[in-house]
Amino acid sequence: MAAETIRVRGQVQGVGFRPFVWRLAAGHGVRGEVLNDGEGVLIHAEGADLDRFAAALLSEAPPLARIDGLERAPAAPRPGLSGFSIAATAAGAARTRVTPDAAPCAACLQEIADPADRRHRYPFANCTHSGPRFSIVRAVPYDRAATTMAAFPMCPACRAEYEDPADRRFHAQPVACPACGPAAWLEADGRRLPGDPMAEAARLLKAGKILALKGLGGFHLACDAANEAAVATLRRRKRRPSRPFALLAASLEAVARHAALPPAAAGWLASPAAPVVLMPAAGAPLAPSVAPGAWQLGFMLPPTPLHHLLIEAFDGPLVMTSGNVSGEPMAIGEDEARAKLGPFVDAFLMHDREIARRLDDSVATVVAGRPAIVRRARGYAPATLAMPPGLGDAPPVLALGAHLKAAICLTRGREALLSHHLGDLDDPLTAKAFDAAEGDYAALFDHVPEAVACDLHPDYRSTARAEALAARGLPLLAVQHHHAHVAAAMAENGWPADAGPVIGVALDGLGLGEDGTVWGGEILLADYRAFRRLAHLKPVPLPGGEAAQAEPWRNLLAQLDAAGLPAAADALLSGRPLALLRAAVARGINAPLTSSAGRLFDAVAAAVDIAPERQTFEGEAAMALESLARRALDAPPYPFGVTGPVIDPAPMWRTLLDDRAEGVSPEAMAARFHAGLAATVADVARTLRRREGAGAIALSGGVFQNVTLAEAILAHLSGERVLLHRETPPNDGAVALGQAAVAAARLTTR
Ligand code: ZN
Ligand code: FE
Repeated sequence: MAAETIRVRGQVQGVGFRPFVWRLAAGHGVRGEVLNDGEGVLIHAEGADLDRFAAALLSEAPPLARIDGLERAPAAPRPGLSGFSIAATAAGAARTRVTPDAAPCAACLQEIADPADRRHRYPFANCTHSGPRFSIVRAVPYDRAATTMAAFPMCPACRAEYEDPADRRFHAQPVACPACGPAAWLEADGRRLPGDPMAEAARLLKAGKILALKGLGGFHLACDAANEAAVATLRRRKRRPSRPFALLAASLEAVARHAALPPAAAGWLASPAAPVVLMPAAGAPLAPSVAPGAWQLGFMLPPTPLHHLLIEAFDGPLVMTSGNVSGEPMAIGEDEARAKLGPFVDAFLMHDREIARRLDDSVATVVAGRPAIVRRARGYAPATLAMPPGLGDAPPVLALGAHLKAAICLTRGREALLSHHLGDLDDPLTAKAFDAAEGDYAALFDHVPEAVACDLHPDYRSTARAEALAARGLPLLAVQHHHAHVAAAMAENGWPADAGPVIGVALDGLGLGEDGTVWGGEILLADYRAFRRLAHLKPVPLPGGEAAQAEPWRNLLAQLDAAGLPAAADALLSGRPLALLRAAVARGINAPLTSSAGRLFDAVAAAVDIAPERQTFEGEAAMALESLARRALDAPPYPFGVTGPVIDPAPMWRTLLDDRAEGVSPEAMAARFHAGLAATVADVARTLRRREGAGAIALSGGVFQNVTLAEAILAHLSGERVLLHRETPPNDGAVALGQAAVAAARLTTR
C-alpha cells in the first residue's frame, strides 16, 4: 500500500472532476479523498497501484476537463481511512473557476430524445459535461445562487441528482427539468402562440418566415437557408448586404451535404465549444444570399438543446446569424430584442432564463488541414491560456488590446485570460460593454493588475481607457501593434522568453508604427521585450485617410501612382476625383503613409473589378479576392521587388496590368497575386531568419484569416519552425494577449 498526494491543475473545477475521481478511486480500490482548492484539485490517495490510478486520471478525465499539470508526491498514510470521499472545498483558498459554455453532450441528447425520460424534449437539459456556464454567471464564486438559474429553485428530483456524487448532474449548477427549470415559448406581436414552440417555429421557418431566437449568449436570427427569398429578406431587413451568414445544421452528415468537411474540422464542429467552422462550399447549393460569392460556408452544430430541438423539427440547414442591429452588439434581453429585432422578424422563440453575459458565436477556419480560431467567444471564454515559459513570475498585467475586434487580457502567474470577442469600439454600446468587461473579468479571475498595457495608437478607445487607469498610479506600457501581434503568436505557441528572437511576419490591416506612419505589412525581428523592423511593404499614401479603409479604389490609385503607373490609374479609375486626391497627397493632407498588406489586397481587388464601391465590413474586398483566387490556384506567381528592407509591389502591378490588357481572367489575376505575395513574404522571412539566426517564424495579423495566403506561405516555409495562431485569432482579437506578454517580459527582472 502506497500513499500519495496528487495535485491536478488546469480546468478541473465545475466540470465533474471530483465525482470522476471518486468513481475512479472506487474502480481502482483506492482509498482517500478529493477536494477543490485555490490551485485546482487535490487528492489524497492510498492504494496498491497508484500508477494506474494516476494514469487513468489523465486518460479518462471528463470531457470538459483540461489538465495542465499532474504532480505526485509521497504522503503519510492516514490510519483508519475507509473508502474514498469528496471533502468540502478548502475554506477561503478556493475559488471555483467558471468554465466555458458547452454544447449538449451525447447523454443529454439521448435523454431529450427518450419519451420515457423526464427531460424528453426539454430545451434546457444539462449536466456536468454540458450546458450553460459563463453565459449565466453573474458573480463568483460559481454556484447556482450566483447564476441566472437562481430564479429556478430545484425540484426534489433535480436536487437528488445534484447531491449524488454518482450522478452525472452532481454539482451541475444549472441542473433543471420541465418541472422546475426555464421554459421556452413562441411569441408574435407580443402574444404567446399556442402549441409546441419548436414545431410551430419550424413550421414558420418552412413557410419562409424569419425568427429571432434567444440562444445562449444572445439572440440569433434564423431563416431557411435553402429559401432564397427568405434569406434575401433577412439581408434586406438587417441591412447586411453581403457579409456571409453562419449556418446551423443538425449533424456532421448534414454539414457534409453542403461543404467539404475536412476530418480535423469534424472534431471541432462536434466539440463542446461548438464554434462556427468555415469550410469550402461543396455539394448541394444553398440559397445564394447565404454567402454571396464566398468560397467558404460557416456551419455550426447545435450549441444548446434548444437549437438541437429546433433544427430537428425543421429538418434542414438554417441561417443562424447574430441578432443585432447593424453595427451594434447582439441583443441579450427579451425587451431589448422585442424593441430592436421586432421589425426584422415574424416571431420570437423566447425563454425565461436570463443571459448574464453577451457571447458571440466563436468562429474557426481550417488552415493546412487543421482548425484555427478567427473569433474567440462562446465556448472558449473564460478558459485560460498558459503564459510562455519564463514570464510566469511577472506581476499581474491588464492588457486592453486594440480597437476593432476588441478583447482584453489579464495575466496572473502562469496563466493568461484572453477575454471573449467584445466587438468594434466605434460602436457606443460595444464601448460600454468593453468598459464593463474589465470589472467583470477582474472579479471572475480575482485579478488586481499591477501594470496596464495598450496599443501605441493614441486614438484607440482602449488606449484612452489604459491611460485613465495609469492616471490612478499603474505603470503603463504601450506596445507597438505588430509587435503585439507577433508576441501573441509566440505566446500562444509557448515560445520561451529565453529562447531568443523570432522572425515575425505581421500581415495586417492598419496599426500605428514607431515612426508615426501606419504599418501593416511587416517583417520584424522580435522577442517579447523588443523588436526591430527588418522589412516591410513599400509605404504608399492612404488617400483620404479613413475613407481609404472603406473604399478600395483609393488604394488602387495610391498603389499605381507609387509604382510609377499613373496613366494606368487614370485609365482604370476614370470618373474618380483623381486630381483632387493627388493634390491632397502631394501636400500630405489626409494621406498618411501605410505599408498595410490589407490595403494592398483592397487595391488588387479594385484592379480586378471585384471590390465593392464601399466595403460594408472589414476585409470584404479581400474576402472576395480570395474567393476568386480559389478558382485558379495553380496560376504562376506575380513578381515582387525586394530592395533592401522594402518589398515593392511595382513589378506585380506591371504584370497585372499586362494580364488585364490581355484579357486574363480575374480569377487568374487574383490567384497570381496571392501566390506572388506568399512566395515573396516567405522568401524574405526565411532569408532574414537565417541571417539573424532566429529560432522560428511567427505569422500573425488579420490577413492570415485568408486561408489561401496562409497555406501558400506555410507551403513555402516547409522545413522552418513556424508559430501559427490556432487557439487565438490572428487578427486584432489576440493583440491583448501579445501586449500582455510584452508587458510581462518588460516587467520581469532578471
Ligand atoms: Zn427539476
Ligand atoms: Fe492588427
